[in-house]
Amino acid sequence: MKDIKPLFDDCATTPLYIAGPCSAESREQTLAAARGVAQAGVKIFRAGVWKPRTKPGSFEGVGSEALEWIAEAKQSYGLHTLTEIATPEHLEEALRSGVDGVWIGARTTTNPFAMQEIADALRGVDTAVLIKNPVIPDVALWIGSIERVYNSGVRRLAAVHRGFGTYDMSVYRNSPQWSVPIELRRRLPELPLLSDPSHIGGSRRLVAMLAQEALDLGFDGLMIESHPTPDEALSDANQQITPESLAALVENLVWRRSATAKDGLRDFRLHIDSLDNRLLELLAERMGVAREIGEYKRAHSMAVVQQDRFNELLQAAETRAENMGLSRKFIHNIFSAIHEESVRQQVDEGCADTTK
Ligand code: PEP
Ligand code: MN
Repeated sequence: MKDIKPLFDDCATTPLYIAGPCSAESREQTLAAARGVAQAGVKIFRAGVWKPRTKPGSFEGVGSEALEWIAEAKQSYGLHTLTEIATPEHLEEALRSGVDGVWIGARTTTNPFAMQEIADALRGVDTAVLIKNPVIPDVALWIGSIERVYNSGVRRLAAVHRGFGTYDMSVYRNSPQWSVPIELRRRLPELPLLSDPSHIGGSRRLVAMLAQEALDLGFDGLMIESHPTPDEALSDANQQITPESLAALVENLVWRRSATAKDGLRDFRLHIDSLDNRLLELLAERMGVAREIGEYKRAHSMAVVQQDRFNELLQAAETRAENMGLSRKFIHNIFSAIHEESVRQQVDEGCADTTK
């Protein structure tokens, strides 16, 4: 993919920022969100019109009418505009309304039939297309969707990492699994790679941290959800940030790329960083489960430390680790430290409860 072009000619430099509400909800809300985006210095505006929702009965977007509000936002604030499409009909309507580009959501990217239909409809169309990762961490499926669109002749192309659905409890709404986008970057180095910290975090307080993390990991830019009154948002209320927070976020992000770009160790370091992040996420998740066990034990008047259970766990872990080429002693030390912390968390929770 050597002939990839910038999404927009006047946005050829990195970092590339895209911001706007999860959904265009009303004319006023769309224009207020667009004003906030422009005031934060962001040049590309996003707003969903047709929302793919996990559960029936949720707000599914206003539909075609909202395209007019997005067109007005483009006129009023001189922004490039993007909306989500999931079918050739959406694409046709969106293009007719004058949007400058489209993104394809995670649920759609997961389905090769839907992707091929969209790719066929994109043949001969010069528009910007952003392809979010599929809901499962399958880099080949993501690349396949990108290739279908590329093969239709689209060259204003970018990938958007928005995390992956998990069955486990996690601090994130969608687990970042950074190694997947890093692998995409390794296989398609010319393709701009953005991250969407809003859908990864699922919570306002995680957005800034994830955004910086993405830039530090070598991403070319970000897609961020911003709403004039996030608490009143009809979709993804928890993760949208106010225009003021957006401006502060963009202002405070640090772009360290140029310092490390020529460093041959960079890719290894990015990989190590992403593995370390996963270790931290797993530890946080494990402590969460430990606290739940603590509650269960309290409710059933059981002792916090169940020594037999720990010995069994330790033996099994040491054997498994040895088969993976890790030293028994090393794993013994790590698991003992983890166990000690789990016990501490359970005891602390118990004490906190008794003081309530
Ligand atoms: C969105 O961007 O609002 C959206 C629905 O994204 P995703 O496909 O990543 O869930
Ligand atoms: Mn959303």
